[in-house]
Amino acid sequence: MNKPVLQHRPETAFRTVDGSLVFAGKSLPRLAQMAGQTPFYAYSRNLMTERVERLRRDMPDALKIHYAIKANPMPAVVQHMADIVDGLDVASANEMLVALDTGMPAENISMAGPGKRPLELLQAIAAGITIHVESPHELDSIARQSEQSGQAAHIAIRINPAFELKSSGMKMGGGAKQFGIDEELVPSALQRIKELDLDFRGFHIFSGSQNLKPAAIIEAQQKSMALAVRLSDFCPTPIRKLNIGGGFGIPYFPGEMPLDTRSIGEALAETMREAGNSIPEAEIIIELGRYLVGEAGLYVTRIIDKKVSRGQVFLVTDGGLNHHLAASGNFGQVIRKNYPVAIGNRMDCPEKETVNIVGPLCTPLDILADKMELPRAEIGDLVIIFQSGAYGYTASPRDFLNQPAALQMLV
Ligand SMILES: *Cc1c(COP(=O)(O)O)cnc(C)c1O
Repeated sequence: MNKPVLQHRPETAFRTVDGSLVFAGKSLPRLAQMAGQTPFYAYSRNLMTERVERLRRDMPDALKIHYAIKANPMPAVVQHMADIVDGLDVASANEMLVALDTGMPAENISMAGPGKRPLELLQAIAAGITIHVESPHELDSIARQSEQSGQAAHIAIRINPAFELKSSGMKMGGGAKQFGIDEELVPSALQRIKELDLDFRGFHIFSGSQNLKPAAIIEAQQKSMALAVRLSDFCPTPIRKLNIGGGFGIPYFPGEMPLDTRSIGEALAETMREAGNSIPEAEIIIELGRYLVGEAGLYVTRIIDKKVSRGQVFLVTDGGLNHHLAASGNFGQVIRKNYPVAIGNRMDCPEKETVNIVGPLCTPLDILADKMELPRAEIGDLVIIFQSGAYGYTASPRDFLNQPAALQMLV
């Protein structure tokens, strides 16, 4: 059964049967048969549902939970998420169409991102979703499109706050950023909105991502709410939507622990109570991608060669960074660390070996595991990469070296 001391958290998260990991009710070899090929991604409906249910238990009842679909835009996944969250956040018009296909009301869909093209803005206006305005130029562009199409766009201002989300994997607010309108310039943007025929909804403040420190998240949430309250006096209408971002992280690397969402929920309930007096009509929203789906997915690839080079063992697999850039360490990591990896059909094999797992690409960057101690594996075995439900398939350079595509399935 499971070992008591672990390097990576996910290794204990799953049951095994006859040495094989069980995922979404199926043993790994069975899952591979069902896919009909390796490499593949498997995503679990149940794990996503459990994640959302637990989050709702920890968060204030009035809080709206949105799914940021760029984390995993597979249409079946987005459809499943649409049924269990309160809204969807998109970052392009194509993502918007996937979101609308689920039946999620346009009212609960929003679009953010610098560099929205005029056509995308028009699509968003026609659909009736909320556009998060990222610059003064974009604001005027939206106003022009609104006028030409005869529909008032629903807009919220994305604010680049003066503060940042501390200890984040990726900072997306604070300092000079391409995202949002600097906090200092928001009053003048609000003044401009009063002159335009636009339907103002509120604010969006997204300060960072992949954070595992409740204190940092709580602080950013409190500052975001306080900022919105301060700016509410300048608004043309009462704030109806206040998206305070997300940033909830998941444990990838040895020693990282799951986020304590209960303490975040308790603090947020208090913050929402206080802000409720000043901005009573505001619906408070958090938007999460990775946290909702990241732990609900595996990437599975098969060992097609095993060789020894000057004393080191190399397991060569049929997929690599072309399908899973993040696991190779080339997606935002400063220092390469091993993702949680297992030999999916030898989970309880006592004989261990230190190995390098590499993909089939002709580049030294194509590494899935660097000197990891794993059960002794052979050609034909299945390598699993955990924590692969977010920023995997669509965040990878799938055409690089023109290898066969990975398959995705929602189980
Ligand atoms: C990417 C992004 C998200 C999702 O971030 P996660 O780290 O996956 O939770 C949410 N909101 C905005 C505006 C984003 O750009």
